[in-house]
Amino acid sequence: MSRSADRFRIDGDTHASAVALRLMDSADSWSPSKSFANDVSAALPSFEGSTGDKPECAYDGCAAGWSKRWKRRARPVFEDSWGCSKACLRALVDASVRREMEGADGAEVAEEHEHRVPLGLVLLAQGLVTQEQLRSALEAQKVAGRGRIGEWLVEAGGVAETKITRGLGMQWQCPVLSLSGFDGIRMALAMPVVLRELCRAVPLRVAGGRILYLAFDENVDAAAAFALERMSGMRVESGVMPRADFVRAVQMLDGSATVKCREVDVADRNEMVERVVDALQKLQPVASRVVRLRDRYWMRLWLERGAFGKNGTLPATGDDVVDLVIRIRRK
Ligand SMILES: [Zn+2]
Repeated sequence: MSRSADRFRIDGDTHASAVALRLMDSADSWSPSKSFANDVSAALPSFEGSTGDKPECAYDGCAAGWSKRWKRRARPVFEDSWGCSKACLRALVDASVRREMEGADGAEVAEEHEHRVPLGLVLLAQGLVTQEQLRSALEAQKVAGRGRIGEWLVEAGGVAETKITRGLGMQWQCPVLSLSGFDGIRMALAMPVVLRELCRAVPLRVAGGRILYLAFDENVDAAAAFALERMSGMRVESGVMPRADFVRAVQMLDGSATVKCREVDVADRNEMVERVVDALQKLQPVASRVVRLRDRYWMRLWLERGAFGKNGTLPATGDDVVDLVIRIRRK
């Protein structure tokens, strides 16, 4: 049976990705399928032009001679590049991890938070709540010592949920999104559950083949949108969503098949690089990438060309794609 046919089998152990996850724990090396092994001109959108029929190691410091360069074909591909050896792969991965660690997105987002007008004031200024409603909500929040002001405005102030959502849209200067067109089955494959829950986000749908809508429960996380943008190869538009719709979307995503995901804690950056290199060597992906989302490093590996769907790099099914979410343990 060809691997592409195999992709449509959905019982656990026959999944290519389930096998892949087991292999990540074993010492065995994984052999690319015959149908792909010699296909070095895989015209994936993510590495167009970088691999013709003469793959070259992407590491500048590569010491390999001509013959060694030809020993292995186009796999594994890491961020549009092919590394000819473990040493070269390690150098490529190390550079990417360094880039992700030094990325300024976290700092920018933190700064954004500081300058953001509080939701209560936005709602008040827009006439969506009265001073009395805001006062009682703040009081209830203070007494309870928990909860968000939006929730207390609904609960203690009797404010309609739709007004809170409108206020959030103004506060974050982003659209209010609805469940209309929500594609739960496909969107469940867009990002790992652990990251979805970490930033309280829901991928909603793809519009026009190029824009991925990402809804947030309350706080719009620009860094999360940026990470998903780079991972999906699509433009990500963030928005807020009414609480009830958000909860419904989460339920639908939770009930759908996801990409197999392994969470790993590592001691330090060096161990992280080793885990990424190991995954590349064992799984021999046709494409892979690492992006940081807060304190997590999300690596996605596409194991077959057929793993790609129609939009960006979003998977067509949960097969032949594997996620690795790595966190460096706090000392
Ligand atoms: Zn090399």
